[in-house]
Amino acid sequence: MTDLTSLTLAEARKGLADKTFTSLELTDAHLSAIEAARVLNAFVLETPDQARDMAKAVDEKIAKGNAGPLAGIPLGIKDLFATKGVRTTACSKILGNFVPTYESTITSQLWRDGAVMLGKLNNDEFAMGSANETSCFGPVGNPWRRDGSNTTLVPGGSSGGSASAVAALLCMGATATDTGGSIRQPAAFTATVGIKPTYGRCSRWGIVAFASSLDQAGPIARSTRDAAMLLRSMAGHDPKDTTSVDVAVPDYEAAIGRSVKGLRIGIPKEYRLDGMPAEIEKLWSEGAAWLKAAGAELVEVSLPHTKYALPAYYIVAPAEASSNLARYDGVRYGLREQGRNIIEQYENTRAEGFGAEVRRRVMIGTYVLSAGYYDAYYLRAQKVRTLIKKDFEDCFAKGVNAILTPATPSAAFGIGEKGGADPVEMYLNDIFTVTVNMAGLPGIAVPAGKDAQGLPLGLQLIGRPFDEETLFSLGEVIEQAAGRFTPARWW
Ligand code: GLN
Repeated sequence: MTDLTSLTLAEARKGLADKTFTSLELTDAHLSAIEAARVLNAFVLETPDQARDMAKAVDEKIAKGNAGPLAGIPLGIKDLFATKGVRTTACSKILGNFVPTYESTITSQLWRDGAVMLGKLNNDEFAMGSANETSCFGPVGNPWRRDGSNTTLVPGGSSGGSASAVAALLCMGATATDTGGSIRQPAAFTATVGIKPTYGRCSRWGIVAFASSLDQAGPIARSTRDAAMLLRSMAGHDPKDTTSVDVAVPDYEAAIGRSVKGLRIGIPKEYRLDGMPAEIEKLWSEGAAWLKAAGAELVEVSLPHTKYALPAYYIVAPAEASSNLARYDGVRYGLREQGRNIIEQYENTRAEGFGAEVRRRVMIGTYVLSAGYYDAYYLRAQKVRTLIKKDFEDCFAKGVNAILTPATPSAAFGIGEKGGADPVEMYLNDIFTVTVNMAGLPGIAVPAGKDAQGLPLGLQLIGRPFDEETLFSLGEVIEQAAGRFTPARWW
C-alpha cells in the first residue's frame, strides 16, 4: 500500500469509501508521522487516544453506510479553536492549562461530518505574528529548506503549525484563522492552499478572539479541491455568532474544474512594489498568463488606498485586541499570579502571562483608543478602512470577478531573521493580504512556483463577497498549471 499520509483528502475519501483502508489505519499512519516529525514543533498537543476512538466510531458508520462527507479524515486543529475537554491555549502562557467545556462551532461541524482530530496545532500567541515565532511553545519549522542548506525556516504565521503540518503530511488538512493574512501567508510559505472566506461565512464562536471585525477562519489543505471540501463543512450560519451571515453554503467542490472563460481578472497596479523581488513579479505574470490561457480576461485595475492598509490595520487590529484581551485577568481563565490586592493580581498575571508582541499590541491598542487619540488614530483608521473597501467595490462594479496578486512579498525566511530590531519588518509580510481583511472579502493563496533557492511562492486571488466558488475555480487553474509541490523529507 502506498503511504497513506501522501494521499490528498479527496483520494483518502475514495479509499475509505472503497474500503481499501480504514479510518483507523489512516489515523494511525498520521499519528506515526506526527511522532516522527516532533522536531517541526507543529503540534502543541497530540490527542492519539481521542483520534483512535473517533476513527473507530467513524469506521462503524462507514460500514453501515451512513457516514458524513469528511468521514474518517484526520485533521489538525489550530490551538485557537476551543475543543471540549482538550487543552486550548492560543499558544499563550496566560491561558495555561485552560480546558474548554465547549466546542467551537467550526470544529463541531467538522466532527459532525466525520472528521477525526489528531491534536492541536501551534500558532503565534493569540494569532499575532507572521512567523509563528511568538508562540509560548516556541517556533515551528517549515518542512521546506533552501536548496543545499540545512537552515530551518519559518512556516509563516500565525497559522504556522497548520501550514507546516499539512505540508509535512502530518494531517490531511487543518483549521486556521486569518485576521491580516494568517491563513494565506503561511500557505504561500509552505506550498499549501489556504482560503480566508468572506467575513461572516464561518462562525467565530468558540475561536479565541484577536480582532473581531477582521478574524475569519478557514482551511489549509494540500489542494484546492481539499480546501473546498473542508470549507463546505466549516462554513454556515450560526446564531451564536451575530456576525455570521445566513447565506446558503454552496457545494464548493463543484466549482473545481468549472470553466473560467470570460471571467474578468483585475491586476492591481498598486501591488507592484518598489524593490519587490523579480521572482515574485515573474510568478505574478506567469499566473496571469495561465488564467488568460484558460479563457479569462485580464484588466489593469487600481486600488488607490492600498498603501494605507497596513498602517490602518495596525491601528484597528491592536485596538480590538486590547479590548478582547482585557478578559485575561487571572480570575477567569488559566494563569493567576498573586498580588497584594486585586489590581496587583491583574498586573502580575498580565505581565507574566502575555509575551512581548502581545504586550506591544495591547499598549498600541489602548493608546489609539484613549481620549484625545481616538479621533486622530482609531477613527481615522476606520475611515481609511471604508475607503479600502470602496476601492474593491468600485473594481467589482466595473465587472471584475476576481483580483490576482502575489500572496507575499518574499519566500520563507530563517527563524530569528526578521523583525528582531524593527517589528515593522515582520508586519510587512502581510502587505498583500491585510487589505482583504479590511474589506471583509474572500482571498485564497495557491502555490504557483519556486524561487531560485527552491522555496515555494504563492499567488493570491481576491473575490467578491461570498463568491468563494470563483476563487476555487481560478485557484484550480493555477494548481493545474503550476503542479503540486512537496518538500523533501529531512526530519
Ligand atoms: N501578521 C498579522 C498580525 O500579526 C496577521 C495575523 C493574523 O492574520 N492573525 O497581526
